[in-house]
Amino acid sequence: MNFEILRRKMVQDQIVARGISDRLVIDAMLKIPRHIFVQEAFAAQAYNDKALPIGEKQTISQPYIVALMTEKLALTGTEKVLEIGTGSGYQTALLATLADRVYSAERIRPLALSARKCLDSLKLFNVQLRINDSEGSPIGWEDEAPFDAIIVTAGAPEVPDILTDQLAIGGRLVIPVGSNSDQQLITIIKNEAGELLQESSVTCRFVPLIGKQGWQA
Ligand code: SAH
Repeated sequence: MNFEILRRKMVQDQIVARGISDRLVIDAMLKIPRHIFVQEAFAAQAYNDKALPIGEKQTISQPYIVALMTEKLALTGTEKVLEIGTGSGYQTALLATLADRVYSAERIRPLALSARKCLDSLKLFNVQLRINDSEGSPIGWEDEAPFDAIIVTAGAPEVPDILTDQLAIGGRLVIPVGSNSDQQLITIIKNEAGELLQESSVTCRFVPLIGKQGWQA
């Protein structure tokens, strides 16, 4: 199986053809091998236009949604980024390629450990992972705040204040918000006055964000 050819086709047919135009995002998606972030049995499907199971009842997001969320963060290479929901680590790898430093939190230990291995194998050493597996641990990473960009890769019932509080002035938060079955992708920008400007884009379907301002486990 020639993964590089599949990857180029994925970027052309699913990402560029659907309107993603940020050259940095496109180049990062051409570079990061998505197939190493899924279980071996799914490697052949890693470049298909869909989400895939990664174990522990969680999923790696559809490539287009990953691209769209990443583009909405408008990264230039200097940013300090927070990700909630490391999962497979694929989105994390893109962020690590596009930003200066990445802090990524995951509640399920085996997923975080597997993500760490993949990120190390790609020599992406600008990522700090944290396992938030204790009951009631708050969403976010207060000690390292503020962040220039925050991405939540699990669906929330509302935008958690705890995350907008951890956003720097000029920072962007991208988060799926809605019911358990479908969500709107929301982008929030904290302007110079500290006000939160919100826009909504596509409908999407994520596994639930678990926690105090998320859903119950
Ligand atoms: N970006 C990942 C998406 C994984 S699915 C990928 O493409 O592989 C979302 C992940 O969010 C799951 O692994 C789930 O365990 C995690 N999650 C849910 N609530 C969380 C919380 N409060 N803190 C950290 N991770 C959380």
